[in-house]
Amino acid sequence: MDKLGELKIDARKKSKSVDFRMPKIGESLDKFQKRLNLKLLAQGRLHFIKYLESVKGQLTQEQFDLIRSSALNQDNLMATSDKLHAKNIETKYLLIKRRFYVDADNVVRDHKNKDTVVCEPEMIFDLVLCGHLKNEHIHWRRLHRFLKLEYANITRDFTQLCVGYCSECNADGRMRPQQKYRHYNIYSGLFPLERVHVEIITPFTKPIEGTYAHLLYFRDYHSRFVWMQPLKSDSAKDLAQALSTFLLSLPRIPIFIETSTLNRQDLFEVCESISSQFALTIGLGMSRSVVFQKNGISRLRYQLRLHQKQCLDSWHMCLKYGATNQNSSYNTRILAIPGNLLYSTISDYARQFELKREELMEKLSASNVVELRSNGRRQGTLYLEDEASAFKMPDEEYISADFETESYEDEDLPPIDDRTPINSSPKVSNFTEPPSSISKKLLLMSDKPDANMSPEITRPLVFENNDSQRYATGNVSIEL
Ligand SMILES: [Zn+2]
Repeated sequence: MDKLGELKIDARKKSKSVDFRMPKIGESLDKFQKRLNLKLLAQGRLHFIKYLESVKGQLTQEQFDLIRSSALNQDNLMATSDKLHAKNIETKYLLIKRRFYVDADNVVRDHKNKDTVVCEPEMIFDLVLCGHLKNEHIHWRRLHRFLKLEYANITRDFTQLCVGYCSECNADGRMRPQQKYRHYNIYSGLFPLERVHVEIITPFTKPIEGTYAHLLYFRDYHSRFVWMQPLKSDSAKDLAQALSTFLLSLPRIPIFIETSTLNRQDLFEVCESISSQFALTIGLGMSRSVVFQKNGISRLRYQLRLHQKQCLDSWHMCLKYGATNQNSSYNTRILAIPGNLLYSTISDYARQFELKREELMEKLSASNVVELRSNGRRQGTLYLEDEASAFKMPDEEYISADFETESYEDEDLPPIDDRTPINSSPKVSNFTEPPSSISKKLLLMSDKPDANMSPEITRPLVFENNDSQRYATGNVSIEL
């Protein structure tokens, strides 16, 4: 390694023990610029603004100016973005009004983010680089941890992107292509509650409250909203009870329930009993968005372990740390708060949702739809998605310890042991085939997200299933 490289590593190590020098908004880069490639910096500023504007949920410079001058109203807000329209403008306006305010010193602050300072969008690039340079070329991850203590709107991605334009750290000036505009909700084409992921999870070696060895975890694909139910055991009876409680308390029954750790035959039988007992229509999905599922599970386990003592003592603390906190905080995967997306303002949502369910069911072969009857009367319906078409769902990229929201420090957390199985219950198994009577005649069913609703779907994706076989799907892709 060359001298400069060694020095930089030394400086980084040192920076862990010295005070961080917080950059100020508007602080000049001049004294550092002579060492940097100015062309790359200029390119970076342009790229950054373009990137910021592509990120949903981030204030643009124009919106920021309106807030700072207290001139924001629905009309001028509408003019700031072509994504806003008559149907969503009021909500957006109220959200902004509730969230941002100008303090006595004319500084814009984010109420939802511990009242930290909102950096003027056009100044973010220089602020981040200034922080990087004032602190001996500090790594972007570490830099972000310090910046977010003071600034509300400097995300991990922003920090990484801006630091990439330091010509000393990135001598060849190459940017990672996936860094461009990778912000969007990959499941925006699904409705809230269209697909819900369910797993049995055994978070600790000891039972919660001395009673609940497992928990049933649910996560909505579209909104990432999480629900949990405590489980005394993983018996079919307990599973049916928890699943019924969940389903019966939802505003509508999800179109598909997905799982990667539950035995499908078991899940089928449990759903069959629930469906007939309560006359419900339930669908079992076959999507193999394994990474999405893994990310959700490891995130939950991580957060419960962080608060292990409280969580072991109280189920409600598990709910708080595993579900409520994440449901109510900003999620960078979807650029929104899960709770807001779950009850989002998709126009005509209730009707569209049922229409979609009907369409999907109509396309299924008769053998994929099981009508449950009792004394000749229909008592609920179960339907099964076809495996091949389900592969058309995009999957998430793997998120390791950094996860989706940015509301906590990741330095002092217990490590996640990759070898620990997600679910240590004896019933854990990989996907098994649906019951043979049903699987024999599975027909293709087109359930890829509505092309009009998810324009981002265009590039081939490769999925890995639990058996590590690789599946390539022909026509799903993500716009980068
Ligand atoms: Zn650098």
